[in-house]
Amino acid sequence: MAEQQHQPARERKPLRILVVGAGIAGPAFVLSLSRFFGVFQELNIKMEITIIEHRDVVEGEGDKKGKRSWFRNAGQQIDIRGQGIEAMRLMGIEEKVRERRVDEPGVVFLDGRGVEGVRFGEKSGGSEQDGGRKGEKKGEKKGLSTEWEIMRGDLLSILYSATVDLPNVSYKFGTSISSLVSSPACASVVFSDGNKDEYDLVVGADGVGSQVRKLIFSDAKTMWYPVGQSLAFFTIPAQAGDRKEMTICNLPGRKSMVTRQDKEDCLRVFFSFAGKDEKLKEVLRGGSVEEQKREWARIFGGDNWQAVRFVEGMLQNGKEGETWDDFYTQELAQIRASTWADGGNKKVVLLGDAGYCPSPATGMGTTLALVGGWVLAGEIASAVVSRDGNVEEGIKRYEEQLRPLVKQIQGMPVGLVYKIIMPSSDMGIRALHFALRMGKMLRVGKMVGWVVDRVEARWGWKLPVYEDGRVDV
Ligand SMILES: Cc1cc2nc3c(=O)[nH]c(=O)nc-3n(C[C@H](O)[C@H](O)[C@H](O)COP(=O)(O)OP(=O)(O)OC[C@H]3O[C@@H](n4cnc5c(N)ncnc54)[C@H](O)[C@@H]3O)c2cc1C
Repeated sequence: MAEQQHQPARERKPLRILVVGAGIAGPAFVLSLSRFFGVFQELNIKMEITIIEHRDVVEGEGDKKGKRSWFRNAGQQIDIRGQGIEAMRLMGIEEKVRERRVDEPGVVFLDGRGVEGVRFGEKSGGSEQDGGRKGEKKGEKKGLSTEWEIMRGDLLSILYSATVDLPNVSYKFGTSISSLVSSPACASVVFSDGNKDEYDLVVGADGVGSQVRKLIFSDAKTMWYPVGQSLAFFTIPAQAGDRKEMTICNLPGRKSMVTRQDKEDCLRVFFSFAGKDEKLKEVLRGGSVEEQKREWARIFGGDNWQAVRFVEGMLQNGKEGETWDDFYTQELAQIRASTWADGGNKKVVLLGDAGYCPSPATGMGTTLALVGGWVLAGEIASAVVSRDGNVEEGIKRYEEQLRPLVKQIQGMPVGLVYKIIMPSSDMGIRALHFALRMGKMLRVGKMVGWVVDRVEARWGWKLPVYEDGRVDV
């Protein structure tokens, strides 16, 4: 794009932006947009940004202003990969993320009796020079966990702290929207508390189950593509003997119990199920937490390895007097929308999982949330600076820029991978562990790491760099 001459704008009303969802994508967008606040000020462009989040806050602990600790129990490890790392650097949060990165010493596969099938990634005394992998045999862990792995709550906290004190940015917790109507002039919103307001732009960053998506697209249901796997995450108290490695216990029926330990006092557990179960599907699509837990307990009940402890821990999670209240379950799905905006009005736009969830099975959801936030902010800023406050062109360019990357990521063969790593029978599990042992001996992990690097490089999608509201691709 040709360089724009910045002209001070005439005095006008502030541009009002509502961001729905204070997960990863929403605050990443606001943080990215703040990189342009200097230029906006120079040009006398005013903005008012409100971020609403339907989860409420727990007062008393936590970070910075207002002692918000709603991110304390907010999910488990998430990965930042490829262009997401670059986006995080450009947003200026790389050091903060590095400080709170989770360092896992390896991965262990067990069978249903808890007998070790194979172990990867023993420490070999590496250094910070290898990109921070700290002792991992280079390439071996790639594909299962990465060097930029962080607890979701820690990333929320970093993004929140970086945005909460920004001028003209305000957060509202415990708030959602109940109605959203867009017109060529504005987006009119009715909030869950009955208040009404109008915005120049509404950003739907409210995750895979997005309310904004449902309100602006009459065919939102057709955008939901299940990938054939469901997950339940929760935290339980640690006990002696818990492993620091990511531990995957494979069970017949395409089930696995996975544990990870980022802190001494607790163990992160997730159940993964890639079989068919109509009752589970039904409760995941609309049941209460109690019903969901009951179905997970039915599927994972039994005396396999530590199933009794994990099921009990899941049922206790969130109960009165318990430390951990973070049960989170999902039927994994991709969101495939043919457009991310509200038709020609372009007053509402979807961001992150809300518009293009690739499913956690790809390990790329957080990456797309960060990259999406960066690109949307860059394009909006460019449009505002060069078009006298008009955001429509920015939304159009955001879609054009990001779609090729989303297409590549959503095209990953996640269903096939899960068929391979979650066998249906005991014999399949023995075959998987044997294949992994062979792979380890033949250093296949290194090869896989090499292939993943090549594939990521071949995608060749370059993160646009935006300087002062001008695009430099
Ligand atoms: C509680 C929770 C735990 C998670 N745990 C994991 C995990 O352990 N591992 C993993 O890989 N991924 C996890 N994810 C998903 C992961 O964070 C996302 O896939 C990814 O980071 C993309 O980020 P996002 O901001 O687009 O969506 P999300 O991170 O899902 O953020 C969406 C935000 O919008 C809020 N929201 C939803 N509906 C409304 C509404 N109607 N009004 C206002 N706010 C709303 C949500 O509470 C959330 O804060 C979790 C998501 C959530 C919400």
